[in-house]
Amino acid sequence: MGEGDNKINENRCLLELLGNRQSLFENILENVNTGIIISKEGIIEWTNSAFNKITGYKYEELIGKDFKKFFLNEDDEKIEKDIFKNLLCNNAWMDGKWSKRKNGEVYLAATKFLAMEDKESESISGLILIDDITSEEYYEDKIETLTFIDPITGSYNKKYILKRLDMELTNAKKNNSSLAAIYIDLDDFHKINNHLGYTIGDKVLKLISKKLDNSVDNKGIVSRFGNDEFLILIPNYDEDENTRIIEDITSNFSTPLIINGYEIHVSMCIGVSTFPSDGTDTESLVRKSNIANKKAKSLGKNNIEFYSQIRTEDEKEEFILENYLRHALIRKEIFLHYQPIINSQTNKLVGVEALLRWKHPMLGMIPPNKFIPISENNGLINPIGEWVLYEACAQNKKWQDDGYEPIFISVNVSVKQLECDDFIDTISKVLDETGLSPRYLELEITENVSGYDTTNGISTLKKLKDMGVGLSIDDFGRGYSSLSQLKKLSVSKIKIDKSFIDDIGNNLDNDILVSSIITMANSLKLKVVAEGVENYRQLGFLKKKNCDMFQGYLFSKPLPPEELVKFMDFY
Ligand code: C2E
Ligand code: MG
Ligand code: MG
Repeated sequence: MGEGDNKINENRCLLELLGNRQSLFENILENVNTGIIISKEGIIEWTNSAFNKITGYKYEELIGKDFKKFFLNEDDEKIEKDIFKNLLCNNAWMDGKWSKRKNGEVYLAATKFLAMEDKESESISGLILIDDITSEEYYEDKIETLTFIDPITGSYNKKYILKRLDMELTNAKKNNSSLAAIYIDLDDFHKINNHLGYTIGDKVLKLISKKLDNSVDNKGIVSRFGNDEFLILIPNYDEDENTRIIEDITSNFSTPLIINGYEIHVSMCIGVSTFPSDGTDTESLVRKSNIANKKAKSLGKNNIEFYSQIRTEDEKEEFILENYLRHALIRKEIFLHYQPIINSQTNKLVGVEALLRWKHPMLGMIPPNKFIPISENNGLINPIGEWVLYEACAQNKKWQDDGYEPIFISVNVSVKQLECDDFIDTISKVLDETGLSPRYLELEITENVSGYDTTNGISTLKKLKDMGVGLSIDDFGRGYSSLSQLKKLSVSKIKIDKSFIDDIGNNLDNDILVSSIITMANSLKLKVVAEGVENYRQLGFLKKKNCDMFQGYLFSKPLPPEELVKFMDFY
């Protein structure tokens, strides 16, 4: 069939659709720059030339296809809901959608959808108008707005809520009004993901965000702030209103969610901070709602805590440290120690773990377990973490340049760092500038892998693996992840948590557990490191079970670089 025949077919189709005013409509529809689709029950029945031009598809390639397929990342349910809403309101639905041309190029389509219900055939027909607005500066704002939506829940994302919080704070200062930030973290969400899968996990998040929306009514703005975290902003905060909203949130979750036939119980911890009493800028309000949330969590599931009520001695100490920590990097108070990792077969040094140290001029040595969580809460983990990566890679390269046998360097990375959009760029930059080959760098992430189980997290880990950087799971055994799940996350090594190694020889259940972790890891081709090996009894047991590597005081404590070279000479 030639081009002409196609056109005749198109016209015939159009004729049927538009009756005897065909020539008038045809002329209009064919000569506009707007792409037009006519659909029935979501299936494309006709398109004009402009649409073919925008998408690069021929007319016959489009007919009979589901029109939703021509939008990227768009979930069917959402489009259908929009269309349905449009039918109810008798109003056109308009939105900007990222779409893909036939050649793979992505473009931004301003999309208008007019739904018509055909009572006779009980079907829904649609007229869809599409403009390619990718290059129009005018739409830059609109494009930015699109980046404010969380694709999983459809609610606002972190970027948006932070911007909005800035704006509302300016207003509140002008009008002398108050404002509340409500930080919500779901209890045991990773269990839902682990047991029921991510698809259901995503549905749960979506439902939760809807329920939160209902609870705040139009008094606040709900956003998905992180994995299983939501931040709600209540402008014009009034104590009674706020209490009612929080009560509504908790009572809304007293009944289980029903998804795909599963009854899912959801509970959450809530932390609240308010302007002006707890803080006057976005960063401190969010951080304090997060501290209140952490405090609530420390008391168990399903708790609420107000920041204003938790100023205990511990927290005061935290504030003091936090202030000092801000200067620690500039004042060169932080440095790295390196702890040897030994191969069980050869007894040779094969790697080191870089461990961060902070020596405050007055307070003395402050353990990482104390200051790292603080740095994670206030965002300082990013500059600190980047410094650690540089320092560790540069040091490892220096040892190689000095003629030592190459070893890997293992660097602890917090989830907060992985969540950063530019994390991959940071790693490439560090490797590039220090000249260290990626195969001598390994990143240790803690076992709570539910944090990486998002599409983003998986793709970050995959990219790292593709770059040739090793990935290992720290403190394995403390969380809930299964080994096969780790395998999916591009991980190649696990480090059995010190608490299990401590118990070797004291507790039969523990010994069985350690040995089955090693056997299972071996069968999945995951390497195993035992952490915190302190005595020969533990070493003997681990050797017998074919554990691949050891790390612990039995071999060496973490050492400053100049002492580590002595160890290198010896091993
Ligand atoms: P981790 O990564 O599990 O590090 C192992 C910890 O166990 C280190 O404590 C190490 O000194 C200690 N250790 C090793 N062998 C033995 C042993 O035989 N006996 C005993 N009792 N302890 C042993 P450290 O250096 O205090 O670090 C604590 C945690 O702080 C680390 O746990 C890691 O989670 C975190 N951390 C340290 N440096 C960094 C860093 O640069 N970035 C991030 N994000 N976290 C870090
Ligand atoms: Mg570690
Ligand atoms: Mg560890």
